[in-house]
Amino acid sequence: MKTYTRYPVRLVHGRGARVWDDAGKAYLDFISGIAVNTLGHAHPALAQAVAEQARTMLHCSNLFHIPAQEKLAEKLACLAGLGRVFFCNSGAEANEAAIKLARKYWYDQRSPRRTIITASQSFHGRTLGALTATGQDKVKTGFDPLPPGFTHVPLGNMNALKQAMGDDTAGILLEPIQGEGGVNIATDAYLRSVRTLCNDTGILMMLDEVQTGVGRTGEMFGFEHTGMRPDILTLAKGLGGGVPIGAMLASESIAVSFGPGTHGCTFGGNPLSCTAALTVLDVLEREGLLENVRVQGGRLQSGLKELQRVYPIMREIRGRGLLIGAELGCCVDKIIACCREAGLLLLPAGPKVLRFLPPLNVTSAEIDEALAVLGDCLPADQASV
Ligand code: PLP
Repeated sequence: MKTYTRYPVRLVHGRGARVWDDAGKAYLDFISGIAVNTLGHAHPALAQAVAEQARTMLHCSNLFHIPAQEKLAEKLACLAGLGRVFFCNSGAEANEAAIKLARKYWYDQRSPRRTIITASQSFHGRTLGALTATGQDKVKTGFDPLPPGFTHVPLGNMNALKQAMGDDTAGILLEPIQGEGGVNIATDAYLRSVRTLCNDTGILMMLDEVQTGVGRTGEMFGFEHTGMRPDILTLAKGLGGGVPIGAMLASESIAVSFGPGTHGCTFGGNPLSCTAALTVLDVLEREGLLENVRVQGGRLQSGLKELQRVYPIMREIRGRGLLIGAELGCCVDKIIACCREAGLLLLPAGPKVLRFLPPLNVTSAEIDEALAVLGDCLPADQASV
């Protein structure tokens, strides 16, 4: 079905940050499958681990203990400092699990708290619960009746958040950086204040790190920049490096509310996806990619700021690590098309923001190449767009 407006390109293979179309044309991939190809394309370790696992066992069901799942759960729990993990296949599913767990937690406390507060401009997925949680009307239109129990507040405004909180509030669900909504940053100070508010009230702090998690911001998780941790955390996108996997983590005392029969997922946490995720985490560590994200993210941001000095149409550069947005004074569609023609794949975050999501092992030379292509495509003034 025509649920995507597709670019006029058929990609057939890739290596590292480079992809090729069916006519043999090469592109520098600064989309990474929308923050999915953590290790770029065809990383030898990931390709080998996936192939080997396919020869051994793809799937067996959560009716059985799955060694790769146990290993991955232990690794993620240790990295995030949260005791329990539920596995699924996507970001929307991870958020659905998070919303269900928050409600069930309060139900088990015999409390009426059921409502989840999220931010305006947020994006949490396309299933009914996740799209209702999403703070953008454009994804909701035509899909009513929507499930009750969601309210939205402007990101970064503590007063608005306090006013929205009531006796029915179960949790606050936020992205550390809104990816789809325009690369909007929740400041560390704001997130810390939300944490304090949650500590004071018992309300659950839930972070959607589907886009920011797994090294994208230069730490394993976006919340690590703040010195605090959430009660519930969701991951997907980059976790499997291209193999579908999502995860919802929670502290032990909350996770007990998910007993047998309360939630489930046929494919979630199967041997293939867990082996892929274990390999991604292993390579991140082995190749020092968090440091690479910080270095290359810095290089990209300074390069963009240099372009901003020459091209006033670039209004603001923001982001963290390798999740960077450049807000322009015009629509970005034509610039994205120009870059694509010139061999650079970029995507928008809303109508006026160019989004940069290279793989986490991108090199300095590739960053410089992307900046040069972009420089050639930026209009000298607004009139020429
Ligand atoms: N949450 C965030 C922050 C996202 O960026 C996305 C996808 O863009 C989702 C959830 C939904 O993930 P999926 O498309 O895997 O369901």
